[in-house]
Amino acid sequence: MNYCYECGTRLEKRMLENEGLIPFCPHCETFRFPIFSTAVSMIVHNPRKDKILLIQQYGKKTNVLVAGYVNQGESAEETVIREVYEETGLHVISLCFNKSEYFQRSNTLMLNYTCVTDSEDLSRLNTREVDQAQWFSHDDARAAIRPDSLAQKFLLFYLDKLSSPSAVSTETRYPL
Ligand SMILES: [Zn+2]
Repeated sequence: MNYCYECGTRLEKRMLENEGLIPFCPHCETFRFPIFSTAVSMIVHNPRKDKILLIQQYGKKTNVLVAGYVNQGESAEETVIREVYEETGLHVISLCFNKSEYFQRSNTLMLNYTCVTDSEDLSRLNTREVDQAQWFSHDDARAAIRPDSLAQKFLLFYLDKLSSPSAVSTETRYPL
């Protein structure tokens, strides 16, 4: 970001205490932190939590996670519930944060959640947004998820965490 998004003035770098050099608009006299999008992706479970939902979209024959952008004013958790319902017609009954990663190509911070839905019924699938949706066992989902994708990274991180012998809960301890 080289110019102020309010007034178009060229930004300068200025030192901000505890933050370092931050873009500053000399006209607005305010710091302009970099802008990026926020999105969520979901590892969607059936009620018994033994299956994971993968979808295909936009004519691509690869399996990915349900995902969507966070609206301004919305919490990430609200987006999870809304997007799962909009794309699959399923109601989320619980959710848990899994992992996040910045995705440079779309300048998006992607927050990944696991969630449990109230049904396995895919008859209310939104066919305008989703070409195909299918429930997979954990092992089949691991094999079927699109290779070298962020979705794969999130899914494997979660499944490895579940199968780790030391894992008494799904909490992640930091630093990793
Ligand atoms: Zn400005």
